[in-house]
Amino acid sequence: MAASPNDSMVLSFEEARGIVEEHASHLSPAAYEVVDLLSAAGRVLSEPITADRDIPPFPRSTRDGLAVRSADLSKVPASLTLKGEIKAGASPSDVPSFVHPGEAYAIMTGAPVPPGADAVVMIEHTLMYSKHVVISRGASPGENIVIRGAEAERGSLVLAPGTRMNEAAIALAASVGRSRINVFARPCVAVLTTGDEIVPIDAEVGPTQIRNSNTYSLAMQIQQAGAEPVLLPIAPDERGQLRQLIEEGLKSDLMLITGGVSMGRYDLVEQVMAELRAEFFFLGAKIQPGRPVVFGRIPCRAEIHGGACAAAGERLTLPQNKHFFGLPGNPVSTMVTFELFARPMIEALCGLSPRPLFFLHARLKSEVRVKPGLRRFLPAILSGELDETSVETVPWQGSGDIAARSRSNCYLVIPMDREQLAAGEWVAVMLR
Ligand code: AMP
Ligand code: MG
Repeated sequence: MAASPNDSMVLSFEEARGIVEEHASHLSPAAYEVVDLLSAAGRVLSEPITADRDIPPFPRSTRDGLAVRSADLSKVPASLTLKGEIKAGASPSDVPSFVHPGEAYAIMTGAPVPPGADAVVMIEHTLMYSKHVVISRGASPGENIVIRGAEAERGSLVLAPGTRMNEAAIALAASVGRSRINVFARPCVAVLTTGDEIVPIDAEVGPTQIRNSNTYSLAMQIQQAGAEPVLLPIAPDERGQLRQLIEEGLKSDLMLITGGVSMGRYDLVEQVMAELRAEFFFLGAKIQPGRPVVFGRIPCRAEIHGGACAAAGERLTLPQNKHFFGLPGNPVSTMVTFELFARPMIEALCGLSPRPLFFLHARLKSEVRVKPGLRRFLPAILSGELDETSVETVPWQGSGDIAARSRSNCYLVIPMDREQLAAGEWVAVMLR
C-alpha cells in the first residue's frame, strides 16, 4: 500500500508526546494574581516562599517523656532528679535555662527541649515519683528531638514558583505565616465542537443525531488541570461561521477542537485552518484510542490578544501564536488524548514546572491480547486492597463507549510492541 503524504505526520506516542513537551517548555502563564490561602487549593505559586524563621523555631520534643542528658543514662536503670515540667507553648521564662547532670524535666510533644538536655526518653520507659524519676532505657544523643532549623532555616526557600498548591504546600505556607499568596492566573482553554451530527444536550435530538458530551467531559478535565474552560457553540457546517468561532477560540490561551479535524476529511476546518496559516506538528499518533489526534499552531494577530478571557491580574506576556489540538470526536479518545497531550500544554500555561509522564504498576488479573503497532490505553479496573493491587480491562465497544469508560477507574497501558500480556505480569496503569 502506497504511503500517503500524511503518513510521516502520524507519530509514535513517544515522538508525539515529545513534540508537545517541547512546545510546552516554551509556554508561560499570561498573568498572576493574589489569592487567600484558603482558596489557593490547586493553584500554581508564582512567587518563591521562604521561611520567616527557623522550622522548628526551637529544638522540639517529638514525644511525651523526659528531657535528659543522654550521658546520664549510660547505666540503666538510672535515677534522676525530677526538676519540673515543660509544656508545649510554655513561655520562655518557664523553660529552664539549663539541664544539669543528674536532672530531668517532664516534657510534652511539641515543647522546647532546654539547653543541656540532648535526648527525650519516652514516658513508657520511666517510673515517675514526686521528686525523682527512674529510667529503664538508655538514649542516644538527639533521640526524639528535632533540632532548631532542621526542617527549614530562616530565609531558605520552602516553596518554589511553579509549585501546585496541595495540602502539604498550603500547610507549609500557613506555617510561615502567609495568609495570601501570589499565584499564576488560570489560563483559558477554548473548546470548539464540530460535527454535523452533534446537537446541544438540551435540544430535541433526531434519530441519527448525537448529543454533545465532549464539551462537558473536556470542561471538567480543563478545570481539573487548573484552567478555565471557554465553551464555544457547536460549529455549524458553514465556512464564515466556522472561521468566526475558530477566531473566537484563538482569544483563549489554547484551543481544543473536538470532532475530526484530520486534514483532507473536513474541508471546512481544513480550509479555515489554511486561511489562518496554521502550522501542523502531527496529524496522528500511533495510539488507541485517539489515533487521529492533531497538534498545531496558528500565528496570532494583535487584535486577538487578551480578548474575552484576558486573565485577571497583571499581564506578563503577549503570546505570538496560539496552539491548538484537534482531538478525535470519539468520547473516550477525546478523554485520553486530553490527558496525554492537552494536559502538559495546559499545565505549562498554568506555570507548573514540567514533569515527565509516568505510569503506576499493578499485577494483571487476566491475559490481554492485542494487535501490536499502537500504544494502547484500555479502560480498566484497578482493584484489591493494601499491598495486593491488580488490574483488568473492562469489556468495551471501542473508543465511543463512554459507558464502559465510566465503569473503569484507570487505563491499562500497553506498549506498542506487545501482542500479549500474561496474567500475573506487572503492567503499567494510568490513573485517568
Ligand atoms: P469524528 O472524530 O468527528 O470522526 O467523530 C468520531 C465519533 O465521535 C463519531 O461517532 C461522532 O459522532 C462522535 N462525536 C464527535 N463529536 C462528539 C461530541 N462532541 N460528543 C459526542 N460524540 C461526538
Ligand atoms: Mg465529526
